[in-house]
Amino acid sequence: MSILIRGGTVVTAEGTLAADVLIAGEKIAAVIAREAGLPAGGRAGQVIDATGKYVIPGGIDAHTHMEMPFGGTFSSDTFETGTKAAAHGGTTTIIDFAVQAKGTSLLAALDKWHEKADGNCAVDYGFHMIVSDVNDATLKEMEACIGAGVTSFKMFMAYPGVFYATDGEILLAMQQASRTGATVMMHAENGIAIDQLVAQALAAGRTAPVHHGLTRPPELEGEATSRAIALAQVAGCPLYIVHLSAAHALEAVAEARDRGQNVFAETCPQYLYLSLDDLARPDFEGAKFVCSPPLRTPDHSAALWRGLRTNDLAVVSTDHCPFCFKEQKELGRGDFAKIPNGIPGVEHRMDLLHQGVVAGEITLQRWVETCATTPARMFGLYPRKGTIAPGADADIVVYDPAARQTLSAATHHMNVDYSAYEGMEITGRAEVTISRGRVVVRDGEFAGPPGHGSFLPRGLNQYLA
Ligand SMILES: [Zn+2]
Repeated sequence: MSILIRGGTVVTAEGTLAADVLIAGEKIAAVIAREAGLPAGGRAGQVIDATGKYVIPGGIDAHTHMEMPFGGTFSSDTFETGTKAAAHGGTTTIIDFAVQAKGTSLLAALDKWHEKADGNCAVDYGFHMIVSDVNDATLKEMEACIGAGVTSFKMFMAYPGVFYATDGEILLAMQQASRTGATVMMHAENGIAIDQLVAQALAAGRTAPVHHGLTRPPELEGEATSRAIALAQVAGCPLYIVHLSAAHALEAVAEARDRGQNVFAETCPQYLYLSLDDLARPDFEGAKFVCSPPLRTPDHSAALWRGLRTNDLAVVSTDHCPFCFKEQKELGRGDFAKIPNGIPGVEHRMDLLHQGVVAGEITLQRWVETCATTPARMFGLYPRKGTIAPGADADIVVYDPAARQTLSAATHHMNVDYSAYEGMEITGRAEVTISRGRVVVRDGEFAGPPGHGSFLPRGLNQYLA
């Protein structure tokens, strides 16, 4: 089975090239500069016309939460619905988080997440591991996880009583990561201080969604980020700050990187396009925008775009964690602290960041780099994923940069009853999404075999010497 993608502009992190792409089976067989013509015997079974379109590596969303337990409920996308939505938006790999519950083992958590995902994903997937219970057994198991293709471990300085780890526990896990080459991912917010601010707000009757944002000030993200960086420096392990939202935190990351420390960071579209004003929408509508860290004021968004240009922010992920407005977000009516945390986004990351290209915030190459190539390298998937080159998996998106679409819950494919970007006009759209040589989405229709996606055992972070 071969496919020829003809007439398009191939865009990779390195540059653009007028070239045709030949797919044989699950792999890219050749990238043929246009004037070179097709090689002898290169007649393809299926031809996709990409004239006037970009041909880009499939997006890699390194931060999703499908079917994740949180606050007595579950995020509303299953692996099936969430990965289909991802494919519609031009994302062909997700890395989701397996969650160790307190008192259980990492490997048991991994088994559980394999069960949820196996045979249900439309595109390929990997896992990170959330470590919530640091003890001798857990620390030993980190090595077994790496053997099982899970090479990154997420810890929390937020959510005391749930995922929160003390500085001592974090240091122990970081030391173990340092021995094995694993990357520690950090939710960096000072949850102990935040919980005091939350209690004060609720006691004073300030219960509306906006207070979720006001009780999690950017200084406490900056402080936790600095602390995580210091702990990682002492332990000698690579650190990846997830969902960075505050200029204060970005400054700490930039300073560490300037010193040459192995510190990396991602941000998410919601921090680039939405703000505290959305959290302040009346009639409990603000609940749709509750996520942690919270949406900030627009000056932070401007700093984040700059960080994407300077590579202090290396990756754009979604932190896709959808909860329906009805019955899920509504759990927090009268108490913002009970609103499930999370925003849907897996379907629209490529489009939203393409808007950054349209607006001149980032280059075309940087779009591909932050959304596909760097996540592949960061999480040990390159060059199988994240680029268009012979031998790579044929995960390819034909992207129409001139198409127009309006984001809406009425038309999106995520299993959630609202869109955080309702009514937003987008220039650009994924026209064809190919996962390992199979067309899974074409012109807005899902065409893939269900369960096409397979598990990706990952190597170590490829940015380390
Ligand atoms: Zn998350």
